[in-house]
Amino acid sequence: MKVYKFGGASVKDGSGIRNMAKIVSGVSDDLVIVVSAFGKTTNSLERVLKAWISRDKGYLNLLDEVYLYHQSVMNELFSGKGTVADNIDNSFARLREYLYDGSRRAYDFEYDQVVSYGEVWSTIIVAGFLKTLLPETGWIDIRTNLITDDRFRDANILWSESSSRVNKVFDFSVNRIYVTQGFIGGTVSGQTTTLGREGSDYTAAIIANMLDAESVVVWKDVPGILNADPKWLPDARRLDEISYKEAVEMTFSGAKVIHPKTIKPLHNKNIPLHVRSFINPSGEGTIIKADAAIREIMPVFIRKEEQILISILPKDFSFVMGDNLGRIFHFFMVHGIKVNLVEASAVSIDVCLDDERTKVDALINDLKSDFSAVYNEKVEMLSIRHYTPESLDRITKGREILLEQRTRSTVRYVVRQV
Ligand code: ASP
Ligand code: MG
Repeated sequence: MKVYKFGGASVKDGSGIRNMAKIVSGVSDDLVIVVSAFGKTTNSLERVLKAWISRDKGYLNLLDEVYLYHQSVMNELFSGKGTVADNIDNSFARLREYLYDGSRRAYDFEYDQVVSYGEVWSTIIVAGFLKTLLPETGWIDIRTNLITDDRFRDANILWSESSSRVNKVFDFSVNRIYVTQGFIGGTVSGQTTTLGREGSDYTAAIIANMLDAESVVVWKDVPGILNADPKWLPDARRLDEISYKEAVEMTFSGAKVIHPKTIKPLHNKNIPLHVRSFINPSGEGTIIKADAAIREIMPVFIRKEEQILISILPKDFSFVMGDNLGRIFHFFMVHGIKVNLVEASAVSIDVCLDDERTKVDALINDLKSDFSAVYNEKVEMLSIRHYTPESLDRITKGREILLEQRTRSTVRYVVRQV
């Protein structure tokens, strides 16, 4: 069997969903189709949530807009009202009822309860439409099958429980095709969780791992994985094949093609991942696999924006080693902060982090009794894998470099934003 994943951009309207149905119709294998929320629905639901949390009645209008958007997609696909429309109405009613309640729990918990609806709606509509063409299509609620801990907004998969449920519920003797939600899961006690923004790729990889899929195809609005973001460097070129290691390094450095967590579950079962264009489905795309054949080594440019560079110094001028290092990293872990770059010297350590202000402030606050912290805001991290002298010049020209780090394969710069 194979796992296909369609992102929000590929299912943003009726014609996108028809295109997807066409792609799926050409496949005779057993298939799991993982779908994201339509278009920018996740962002819209985040706005609904923010308004509701701050007791702004405007959340109702924002939610109505989301409802109308889903109606308009359905109008493009179905004639007249039917069970799909009823299911969507019921599901919106359930969310409205939930929000009508006066109580509000922790932000991350509420986030998952509200924002997860995007994937529920998209899959109800997509599965309903596919079923009209391919009756062997089923819909699965992944919230009761992909079981996670209760770290809301960044939930961790409970592998053995999930695997036994997933293997039971995706029964290809009942349906040949299953449509299910990316990005979301649920705790053993039935509370909805999410896996982190853009997490649907990760869901596809998890399901593929558990079901021992032959391959995963991620359908995107780009021709494959490119050696740079074409909005930044317009002459970006497609990479034919890359290794799992290369893919992990690229996503870790900030390449946005696939979610960084996607690779590990595939690597562990040696399942290839194919990134293909849903605009041009006959294009070759990029294959990520173990024994990738590199026909030509070209520099890969990666840019991670909205970073903050922090220098941390023990106040008593002690070395940044053993104890101090352990404590500093403990604080990163406690606040759920991902460190993108570390440069240690004798009495200070520089770290480059995503500038998530509330987390960073909490971190600095925890450090301040024993360490002083100096920071540079509005910086970005530029990385080049397989760099050449020309490629270095190309991206550093005219930039103020605050930090540079080089290994044989990769160079990273922290530069001031322009
Ligand atoms: N809909 C979610 C998001 O936009 C998950 C995904 O698209 O992968 O973050
Ligand atoms: Mg999305």
